[in-house]
Amino acid sequence: MSHAVCRFCRREGLKLFLKGERCYTDKCAIERRNYPPGMHGRRRGKFSEYSIRLREKQKVKRIYDLEEGQFRGFYEEAERLKGNTGENLIILLERRLDSVVYRLGFASSRRDARQMVLHNHIEVNDKRVNISSYLVSKGDVVKVAESDKEMLRVKGAIEGLQRREIPKWLELDQNKLSGTVVESPTRSAITFPIEEHLIVEYYSR
Ligand code: SF4
Repeated sequence: MSHAVCRFCRREGLKLFLKGERCYTDKCAIERRNYPPGMHGRRRGKFSEYSIRLREKQKVKRIYDLEEGQFRGFYEEAERLKGNTGENLIILLERRLDSVVYRLGFASSRRDARQMVLHNHIEVNDKRVNISSYLVSKGDVVKVAESDKEMLRVKGAIEGLQRREIPKWLELDQNKLSGTVVESPTRSAITFPIEEHLIVEYYSR
């Protein structure tokens, strides 16, 4: 049986890696049946330009596990910044604390990472931060709070790192369960296939 979030992957026809370890097994819904959910899922007709843009926006929103209002808020912030709005958006999303906790392998999905942040298990520069939308900056040190390391071991999340690459802008100290933001992320450091210009076109319509 596939999990609720797996329908998002099935809809996009792409593994979005929302279920942690399960995503790497043959239980993955995409591995099993690669078509969108719903009665008419197998029928993939021609997409209109609108629906292509909408799907890309939905895809990225699912990857970062955000509600529309939160996602839109990030988009508006990206628009206010200098430079390319689409690139700004992806970089802002990557700098979210929950995303960084996931990238460092402290949790096996962004959803789990968010729970860790919300439950006060994460410190930034030696202070507990329980705001998942907190944006990390160059030089920040993100770590699992001392007393919570046992919990982390039980979850075994960090073992999942073997399956994923830590982006170059983060440096992990696996013994200390701590990661440093060694540089600001650039768009090219985010390798997952995302066509952010479609999202800009979606919101600019
Ligand atoms: Fe489900 Fe993960 Fe596979 Fe997506 S990638 S369908 S979340 S198991």
